[in-house]
Amino acid sequence: MKPCAFIYHRPSGLPEALALLAAHAPTGGRVLAGGQSLVPMMAYRMAQPSHLIDINHIATLQGAAMQNGALVIGTTTRHAAFKTGICPGPLGAMLGFVSSHIAHGPIRNRGTFGGSLANADPASEWCLVMVTLGGRVMLQHASGTRMVAAGDFFTGVMATALADDEMLTEAHLPWGQGDQWGFYEISRRAGDYALAMCLVVYRLDNGLMRDVRLGIGGAEATPRRLAAAEAILAGQAPTGPNFIQAADAAAAMLKPMTDHNVTALFRRDLVRAAVRRALHHSLNHE
Ligand SMILES: Cc1cc2nc3c(=O)[nH]c(=O)nc-3n(C[C@H](O)[C@H](O)[C@H](O)COP(=O)(O)OP(=O)(O)OC[C@H]3O[C@@H](n4cnc5c(N)ncnc54)[C@H](O)[C@@H]3O)c2cc1C
Repeated sequence: MKPCAFIYHRPSGLPEALALLAAHAPTGGRVLAGGQSLVPMMAYRMAQPSHLIDINHIATLQGAAMQNGALVIGTTTRHAAFKTGICPGPLGAMLGFVSSHIAHGPIRNRGTFGGSLANADPASEWCLVMVTLGGRVMLQHASGTRMVAAGDFFTGVMATALADDEMLTEAHLPWGQGDQWGFYEISRRAGDYALAMCLVVYRLDNGLMRDVRLGIGGAEATPRRLAAAEAILAGQAPTGPNFIQAADAAAAMLKPMTDHNVTALFRRDLVRAAVRRALHHSLNHE
């Protein structure tokens, strides 16, 4: 199929883009980022925007930099930009490793960090990273800006707190001194959407895990941290038996989705495996 007719806009600055969005959002205007989700939806006519506001040529929305202990990521930073370490140290390594699980090379070359967050697919790796690390997003419209915690931003399957006339312009990812990480994703084939995935971040203090953050994605409507599993690990040594206990707790407290790929029952097992493997991964990578 072919998309419905639309009017294309190519603003070169953010104020112009926000003004265009304010003018056209009420009649179906949408932001175009990497187009890797929106364009296929348009081709199937699941999305029929009247105006497309292409934000790819706004230089101030690209790139990432550390500011006050957080990585500030411009919304049109491509998935591929994370591959070789977008920032030094373990945060850059973690983001590079996670990015390699997103789709395939050509999609990673075009798809953007902010586009993934705005699209809010339950199986999006970046949505899981944002929720697990306690990130925040900057939402801007023609007459103002607000910051929203990632945990409040994702409201359902492909649903967010974004208003129609708002643009997501930045993501802020906090990272603590000495943080360790592990990630594991289960999908049918390399590049496929996750059936279940887990990101774990903690600090080692005299051999014991502190400030544990354990997030699950791809299993429920939105990614979330699992407090019961975190509590089992906090203050404990990173050992196999503790990992198994945390994985069992995570699987028990989850309300997994059934979809055309797997049943909820099977997905619960996948979550258990993903948690255990992410925890082991935290001990076994460079
Ligand atoms: C075959 C295939 C496999 C894929 N596999 C994965 C995968 O494993 N993991 C994964 O996470 N993703 C996957 N994707 C999706 C891919 O990561 C997309 O890049 C991403 O979902 C959307 O980013 P985008 O920049 O392409 O956004 P677009 O497609 O341009 O936009 C998506 C939606 O977000 C809105 N939007 C975009 N940017 C903004 C903004 N700054 N402010 C407000 N609204 C905005 C658009 O209006 C649109 O509604 C896959 C896609 C394909 C085609």
